[in-house]
Amino acid sequence: MSATPWAFDLSYDEWGAYFAGMGQPSYRAGQVCAWLWKRGVFDPEEMTDLGKDLRAALADGADFSPPDIVRDLKSRDGTRKFLLRVRESSLIESALIDQHGRLTACLSTQVGCPVGCPFCATGASGFERNLSAGEIAVQFAVMEKFIGREISSAVFMGMGEPFLNTEQTLRAVRMLNHGKARGLGIRHIAISTAGVVPGISAFTESGLGARLAVSLHAADNDLRNELVPCNTSYPLKDLMASLKEYQEKTGDRVTIEYALFKKKNDSVEHARELARFLRGLHVYVNLIPCNGSLNGYERSDAEAVLRFQSVLKSAGFESEIRASHGGDISAACGQLRAGNEI
Ligand code: SAH
Ligand code: SF4
Repeated sequence: MSATPWAFDLSYDEWGAYFAGMGQPSYRAGQVCAWLWKRGVFDPEEMTDLGKDLRAALADGADFSPPDIVRDLKSRDGTRKFLLRVRESSLIESALIDQHGRLTACLSTQVGCPVGCPFCATGASGFERNLSAGEIAVQFAVMEKFIGREISSAVFMGMGEPFLNTEQTLRAVRMLNHGKARGLGIRHIAISTAGVVPGISAFTESGLGARLAVSLHAADNDLRNELVPCNTSYPLKDLMASLKEYQEKTGDRVTIEYALFKKKNDSVEHARELARFLRGLHVYVNLIPCNGSLNGYERSDAEAVLRFQSVLKSAGFESEIRASHGGDISAACGQLRAGNEI
């Protein structure tokens, strides 16, 4: 930890140690965490249950500067997209999805993404760096403060691959979940991965209990190598083994994300292949008609999507065709970073 820690990077326990070092009682940690994470008060001067001297000492001893909201866009369907400047340098995007009044925060875990899926705008933007746990969790706090309403869930589905930044991602989950910090229910937190096997195993081992989604998009190694290039390092057999292990240990259903690209992965045979691959795993399948069009990847025809779903249904799999949110402001899946020019 540097001499001047960034307030949002400190966990509840670390605040306890911080205050102990100042000769302060441990309950101060709960006070500061409540201001930051429950009340959206980021300026220590406004933390009125701390004495004046303590407030001044805090302002001197830690950096409380929140990310700047560089831009905020609102979609016709109510989805919002925020461009945040974190720690005076990197720009990241976060989205807020409104479904019948329930808000879901879509959080980024990296600046850009090194996986490079050819249909994804984030992948096309290259990779800059990993975000710290505080930089991930603070996106939630900033959006909740901005909107002035409670956000009910968080999905790690923004820019980046969470399991190429596993330690900070899991730390961010704990920060959001901790009862003395935000206290967001663990079942209201989901992580979406492109299938980075060591990260899935670490997540299973963590016993955290958040939900898991896997962006599969193909059930054949050759095709998946093209669509999700990290498949060359973590082929389907290894991915399946890690999902079985996850399921044995947690008993939880896995969400399978399958984006449908016209004439690439949307035939009846692809659907049968998917059903064969998933047999024996307890899953729920989200079918996502491709958003935008990049590198020749385009949205499947509506009939192809329905045909695909009916094959899955006949094979006994529950699925849903997921409506896209925020397409008009490039806030939909895979479009973060697409309209970043400022
Ligand atoms: N890197 C993680 C999480 C962020 S991407 C992952 O890949 O799972 C979030 C989701 O958006 C993934 O399911 C991804 O495959 C999907 N996605 C990316 N580009 C898309 C596009 N153009 N259309 C539809 N879904 C897309
Ligand atoms: Fe990265 Fe996910 Fe986009 Fe693939 S889909 S490039 S893993 S953010």
